[in-house]
Amino acid sequence: MVNGYTPKTLQEAVEIRARESVIPYAGGTDIMVQQKNNAPYLFLNKLEELKEIKDDGEYIRIGAAVTFTQAIENELVPQLMKESVSRIAAPAIRNAGTFGGNLGNSSDKADSVLAEFAMDARVRLVSEKEERVIPVEEFFVKRGENTLQDDELIAEILLPKDKCEKPYYYKKVGGRNALAISRIALAGVYEVKNGVVADFSAAVIGGAAKFQRFKEIEEAIIGKPVDQIRANPDEYVKMYAEKLVFTRGRVSAEYRRTVSTNLIKDYLATLE
Ligand SMILES: Cc1cc2nc3c(=O)[nH]c(=O)nc-3n(C[C@H](O)[C@H](O)[C@H](O)COP(=O)(O)OP(=O)(O)OC[C@H]3O[C@@H](n4cnc5c(N)ncnc54)[C@H](O)[C@@H]3O)c2cc1C
Repeated sequence: MVNGYTPKTLQEAVEIRARESVIPYAGGTDIMVQQKNNAPYLFLNKLEELKEIKDDGEYIRIGAAVTFTQAIENELVPQLMKESVSRIAAPAIRNAGTFGGNLGNSSDKADSVLAEFAMDARVRLVSEKEERVIPVEEFFVKRGENTLQDDELIAEILLPKDKCEKPYYYKKVGGRNALAISRIALAGVYEVKNGVVADFSAAVIGGAAKFQRFKEIEEAIIGKPVDQIRANPDEYVKMYAEKLVFTRGRVSAEYRRTVSTNLIKDYLATLE
């Protein structure tokens, strides 16, 4: 029998988390393939409070135990997020895998986290004593490292509504169409008003142990007429090429460099 606790409320869950060393367990799709220590599991999949998707006027709030399938089928979830998670693995994984688990596992190839970076998402963390809401880039430090405290649980992901409503760019390049972990992926949110770029973000998977986003380049693009960007995209592509960090993994750093900068160029060409 699996050793663990099945709390009925979030309050009960954080009380257990405060008094004992437990492993939060949502869909189990990462945990089941990893070696973990022998601590008991804290099963989160019965917590209705973590399974809701809500609109509070300012944010679309996705509960940590919401599965990818549930999000794809929900009309509140923005298209960029749906597109990012609809290519995760195969249906069985999407039916079980959750947003909290994708963040908690802290892979630098986590597809929902890439969209969260592009959208300036925030993460709500709760413990028995308090709760805090922090930007996703403060939560995710690098591959396998995040700022979750031992007594905390991820409760919700908050997507700013103004970002949810804007046009977006998303492309994932994997080894094959299904069951492919992202080798390189680019997600961005933008807005063009009267021919001028009013908003622009670009988050990249696939070159380093973390998601790469460069606010200084985004600021250089915001405020520029799109005609000017289209006439000379290489000026901005070069800025990205100089900043992006590429390492060798299953594919070469050179391959990552070429594909990432091609995606940036393609993204700039779609601005209108
Ligand atoms: C065959 C296969 C293919 C995959 N393909 C992809 C892919 O294409 N893209 C992708 O991004 N991922 C992929 N994954 C990884 C995995 O499915 C995702 O990371 C998924 O989101 C994990 O969610 P889960 O609910 O199953 O997490 P779990 O396995 O339950 O937990 C993962 C980690 O998060 C912690 N955790 C879970 N919930 C919370 C919480 N509320 N608070 C604090 N900590 C928590 C757990 O303790 C654990 O450390 C794949 C996995 C498999 C097995």
